[in-house]
Amino acid sequence: MQIPVGVSARHIHLSQEHLTVLFGAGAQLHPKKDLSQPGQFAAQETVDVQGPRGKIERVRVLGPVRPETQLEISQTDALKLGMQAPVRESGHIEGTPGLTVIGPQGQLDLQMGVIVAKRHVHFSLDEARKYGVRDGQELALRTKGERGLIFEHVTARVSPTYKLDFHLDTDEANAAGLHTGDEVEVIELEHEHGQEHFHGNEIIRVDSSPDVGKTPESVR
Ligand SMILES: [Zn+2]
Repeated sequence: MQIPVGVSARHIHLSQEHLTVLFGAGAQLHPKKDLSQPGQFAAQETVDVQGPRGKIERVRVLGPVRPETQLEISQTDALKLGMQAPVRESGHIEGTPGLTVIGPQGQLDLQMGVIVAKRHVHFSLDEARKYGVRDGQELALRTKGERGLIFEHVTARVSPTYKLDFHLDTDEANAAGLHTGDEVEVIELEHEHGQEHFHGNEIIRVDSSPDVGKTPESVR
């Protein structure tokens, strides 16, 4: 199974309330470029973010607005800002640090929402069915090229609004020499009751369940 790669540069999602604080009353996001996931876009708008030891300018705002503001950075960015940012799935921001966000019309002391996004693959329902993948399942992906490596703990995220794409941050992509549009291969599907190792068309089950040796319907 080959999956296209989408490298995520640092970006911020804003709530409507925070958009108003940073860009003024009545502010709206103006789409600049569509993203891989249907309906999602990079906005023309950017903000600056100020951490305890450093500042990063012109962080891209992604739209549309969301219920909660979330800043997604790399570990390299976190070092530059002088803060620790936990690896989290998007939307799981309880207990995460905040920082100061600066817009053209105001600034905001964000209380939480700074994360390093956990690498993940988006699947539509059809794609998930085709590949035998469940929402929340972890995958292992192998990359090609002279810096080829295996990414473990890649979360599968399944939704009718998604489209097949492997999202990782710039640190991870640089470590593997990956660029947007490259492809990676799924080599392992981890299931709740054991593990299946996926090598092309061949499935080898390594748990001791009664159906050892059979090819599960879900991966055909
Ligand atoms: Zn994503």
